[in-house]
Amino acid sequence: MNWDYLQPVKIRFGKGRILEIKELAESMGCKRGLLAADPFFFTNGVADQIIADSDGILVGSFGKISPNPDVEEVDACAEMIRHEKIDFVVALGGGSSMDCAKAASAVAVTGDSIREYHGTGKNIPEQHLPVIAVPTTAGTGSEVTCVAVLTDHKNQKKSPIVSDSFYPAYAIIDPELTYTMPPKVTAGTGIDVLSHALEGYWSKGHQPICDACALHAAGLVFEYLYRAYENPKDEEAREKMCEASLIAGLAFTLPKTTSSHACSFPLTNLYHIPHGEACGLTLDYFARINKDTEGGRVQDFAKKLGFKDVDEMADAIHELKAKMGLRNDLKDLKLTDEQIDALIQISHHPNLYNNPVEITDDILRDMYEGMR
Ligand code: NAD
Repeated sequence: MNWDYLQPVKIRFGKGRILEIKELAESMGCKRGLLAADPFFFTNGVADQIIADSDGILVGSFGKISPNPDVEEVDACAEMIRHEKIDFVVALGGGSSMDCAKAASAVAVTGDSIREYHGTGKNIPEQHLPVIAVPTTAGTGSEVTCVAVLTDHKNQKKSPIVSDSFYPAYAIIDPELTYTMPPKVTAGTGIDVLSHALEGYWSKGHQPICDACALHAAGLVFEYLYRAYENPKDEEAREKMCEASLIAGLAFTLPKTTSSHACSFPLTNLYHIPHGEACGLTLDYFARINKDTEGGRVQDFAKKLGFKDVDEMADAIHELKAKMGLRNDLKDLKLTDEQIDALIQISHHPNLYNNPVEITDDILRDMYEGMR
């Protein structure tokens, strides 16, 4: 088996490390930074505090970023970068803010619209501004991935763009920034972590270093996610979920995600199911589909986590979602036959073909029919 490993992001993990922004920027020779942040942090004072603590090196801010960021928000952020002659970007927020900032930092130097690269196959140019990524959910792992997932609401298209230019220069993971996540966001983003671990592991592109990361991250989710959900102030659980999110990011960025992420795109686009919840919805179904693939390596994974087998692990995922009020079905949407047909068709996103078992229309129909 041949495999390659690369992880270019410098990682700083720990409480209070958000204060290191200025030092990191200066170490890169940067002088004019933009804080691109989730709008929530402009309402609770955190964004203002970060700007004040930066001692003048953050000279502007951009906060028009929605969940599942739109290509037009990326273009607006890039325009501000050009206009303010910015030379580095701090991306503060969940996957939405980090992805918007990563993409804007790359297209800003070209003058192009990100639309030119979204779902077109055109390569993102190599030259880009450095990004310091600061996650506030646990989470997408976007702080260590070469992926930016963007939505073109006008054309009803949600899809990842993959480019080495999207690797942040630094990731600062400061668990204190996640304490304000409401339980529903903790639950959805936490199930996303488990999706990254499992999908990275069973992806056709799996490899040993990412496998080890996947196992570690999944174990942490089973141990700490419910604790963080139940008690948002449980500092140990918050820190361990940040660790899980980061390490699950490392687990999937090279192998890439598979079936659950492929199906999440239409579920989010058409029915506005938050990203993590949409991925988690199908995770236990696909765990059972993939259970005996490649000599039983998914069974090994479940056993190493202390489950009897994959079925017991899938039951635990189902139960965890139920306990946290996440979806296990689509009953409330009262989907018509035509809507099921459309879901099946749009689930054929390229990520579906990374799944180790071929996912046919019959499998997708069985799954979606079973949920309505
Ligand atoms: P998000 O960034 O969309 O945020 C979800 C909600 O949580 C928002 O309303 C936000 O305001 C709020 N929020 C975030 N942090 C908070 C905090 N600490 N306190 C209070 N509220 C907070 O959620 P996400 O799940 O982190 O990101 C989802 C996006 O990331 C999707 O577009 C998804 O496709 C993408 N994604 C990217 C990658 C990648 O590698 N680039 C991987 C997985 C997912």
